[in-house]
Amino acid sequence: MDSNEIKADLAHVLYTKEEIQARINELAAQIDKDYEGRDILVVGVLKGAVMVMADLSRALKSHVTMDWMAVSSYGSGTQSSGVVRILKDLDTDLMGKHVLIVEDIIDSGLTLSWLKSNLESRGPASVEICTLLQKPEAAKVKIDVKYVGMDIPNEFVVGYGLDYAEKYRNLDCIGTLAPHIYQ
Ligand code: 5GP
Ligand code: MG
Ligand code: MG
Repeated sequence: MDSNEIKADLAHVLYTKEEIQARINELAAQIDKDYEGRDILVVGVLKGAVMVMADLSRALKSHVTMDWMAVSSYGSGTQSSGVVRILKDLDTDLMGKHVLIVEDIIDSGLTLSWLKSNLESRGPASVEICTLLQKPEAAKVKIDVKYVGMDIPNEFVVGYGLDYAEKYRNLDCIGTLAPHIYQ
């Protein structure tokens, strides 16, 4: 079996493992500078953010605690509606904490907009957002995303945590799928 078996399903690689790592290191340096001396509670949004959480948290020099949330957004078909249900809530009390929500990608931004207000209502000292990828649609929603890795075109991407039918999360790069995969 070819070790590049899953990569063969990609039409185009947008970002290599090395490019992703380099950008995450830059984000981490910026975050360390902004939070200087303060502990950060990083909240990963399952499942897509697992890879970003693993690499970003290891690149941070600040003291970090980690927690996870799983949410599902109701909507017709592929359109996110902004109506969100919590599938797995945090284990941590947010009172007085500096919360950094970590996401894989922001498309409509509706899920994250809801999540940010929800976490803000729990008495934290601050809530900021870090996303590896952001699509142009995100600009239409009034949501303040402090840390953005890369702005990407409006294409469906997979890899580095991002799935198509739960597959491709384990790719170390980010790319678009070859058309024959959808058919
Ligand atoms: P929204 O910002 O529209 O509320 O939802 C963002 C979520 O939609 C992401 O967390 C991700 O699960 C999914 N999503 C949006 N764009 C893409 C994409 O290009 N590829 C993949 N695999 N998932 C995406
Ligand atoms: Mg996500
Ligand atoms: Mg998905």
